[in-house]
Amino acid sequence: MKGLNCELPSSTNFIQSIINEDLKNNKNDGRVHTRFPPEPNGYLHIGHAKSICLNFGLAEVYDGLCNLRFDDTNPTKEEVEYVDSIMADVKWLGFDWDDRLFYASGYFEKLYAYALDLIEAGKAYVCDLNAEQIREYRGTLTEPGKNSPYRDRSVKENLDLFQRMRAGEFPDGSRVLRAKIDMSSPNINLRDPVLYRIQRASHHRTGDQWCIYPMYDYAHPISDAIEGVTHSICTLEFEDHRPLYDWVLDNVTVLCHPQQIEFARLNLGYTVMSKRKLRALVEQGIVNGWDDPRMPTISGLRRRGYTPEAIRDFCERIGVAKSNSFVDIAMLEHSIREDLNARAPRVMAVLRPLKVIIENYPEDQVEMLEAENNAEHPEMGSRHVPFGRELYIEQDDFLENPPKKFFRLAPGREVRLKHAYIIKCERVVKDEQTGQILELHCTYDPDTRSGMNNEKRKVKGTLHWVSAKHAVKAEVRLYDHLFLKENLEEDEDFRANLNPGSQEILTNCMVEPSLAEVLPGYRYQFLRQGYFCVDQDATAGQLVFNRIVSLKDAWAKIQKSGNN
Ligand code: ATP
Ligand code: MG
Repeated sequence: MKGLNCELPSSTNFIQSIINEDLKNNKNDGRVHTRFPPEPNGYLHIGHAKSICLNFGLAEVYDGLCNLRFDDTNPTKEEVEYVDSIMADVKWLGFDWDDRLFYASGYFEKLYAYALDLIEAGKAYVCDLNAEQIREYRGTLTEPGKNSPYRDRSVKENLDLFQRMRAGEFPDGSRVLRAKIDMSSPNINLRDPVLYRIQRASHHRTGDQWCIYPMYDYAHPISDAIEGVTHSICTLEFEDHRPLYDWVLDNVTVLCHPQQIEFARLNLGYTVMSKRKLRALVEQGIVNGWDDPRMPTISGLRRRGYTPEAIRDFCERIGVAKSNSFVDIAMLEHSIREDLNARAPRVMAVLRPLKVIIENYPEDQVEMLEAENNAEHPEMGSRHVPFGRELYIEQDDFLENPPKKFFRLAPGREVRLKHAYIIKCERVVKDEQTGQILELHCTYDPDTRSGMNNEKRKVKGTLHWVSAKHAVKAEVRLYDHLFLKENLEEDEDFRANLNPGSQEILTNCMVEPSLAEVLPGYRYQFLRQGYFCVDQDATAGQLVFNRIVSLKDAWAKIQKSGNN
């Protein structure tokens, strides 16, 4: 732990400024203890990654601790599947809670005891109004609320009723326990908020042990305090709940009073970031599960081929602020490009093959040509790719009637084949009926082999290719944004804005033979095309790749134009 005499990190965001100040004043005896508190009602998304990086990151910076705590107070929406996926995702991101894995449900007995204390102190009461009546009595932003007719029940009666609520004597929704605070408070959260509700629902950890469940606003501060959390970091929508957070801790006997600090949640363009909406996408079959590579979930990004390093880098770049804003998805893509640019081996893959026949190349000859794995990183070595008489190039690397600035292949024109020779297009063979281009007949210049110090002639275009005889067939899945609109309004029907072209599956791709036995999770740069990752659907006989991201870096461009 960092004591007073340790050097504090120079503050880089407002939360660190707060913590630095606390450490200077020896608040919390110089401890820094945070927590990441997901509700296990869905899979984690990139917004949660921001919170994870922040909470675990602060613990790292200050030599403190960060707990993982499941906020599992709502049994109807929570499942073990979500608990397991959340743990796997936090670990994958590179963080560790050691032995500090907690559940709010682990505190149910304590929370109940604290509720009894509140009743005995005259600070909580059992209310028989139904949900609708409670809403009516609550008032509005401009009008104060009215006291519940049950507000002045005696302590004795309240104790008796609350104990009987727990014992299961009353039907669901018939009674609640409420804090007795102030029905005319300008802050609606303080107008006698509900602390407990009756709900007969099996809980994923406590089973049918309980038929009353605590509300988040009551369970959360006490859970923080029980764990000795010093800084309880949450998103901005909880700002108005902070007085209630503090009220709860001021009115029960706990050992410490954590400080709630709010920061702006992450919003990303062209996607949705609420578990409710993500769940709807999954349940309605709009995507293929929580780990669909188009999803902004951690599991979706992982399957797509994102690295934990790139996601952490992105979370670092976006920083922590006090006001909500939108983050350009190009920034996330920039992070993965930067990461993979340094470490992904370069390979050749033809996504939409067009046959090329080199007429002057000997029929049965095969040359193994050396190809570097990453020109910028010679230490990544090289491999050999076979070259033969029949090749595939990309369909759109050929145009019969090219515009002036088209430097790829066209009738009578020359291009270099990467790692190989200069070829010239001599003849186009078409389907007589449809006019479709079937193959190109070319010639090669044997004196132009790459790397032989005889690259005398310069040509403008260099194409990737594969040998037809040696190439391995693969499926390649191309992804685009899930939504057509960058900024979906909160109440907008998100289904209406789905991008029908968010997934394109190419089944006839041809990749170089060095990829024949790659394993799911391996990442490559397909030359001139982008970064790709072997999907988990790949089997020994069937290669499947996901496109993580194309090569064009929109974010770098945005930054450049911003600097001009
Ligand atoms: P959702 O709106 O997606 O359901 P939530 O806030 O209900 O999210 P929780 O499981 O309660 O989900 O979130 C756990 C933690 O992650 C909370 O501290 C929450 O503030 C934080 N968090 C959730 N979404 C974001 C986001 N978009 N950006 C930053 N932090 C987030
Ligand atoms: Mg929440």
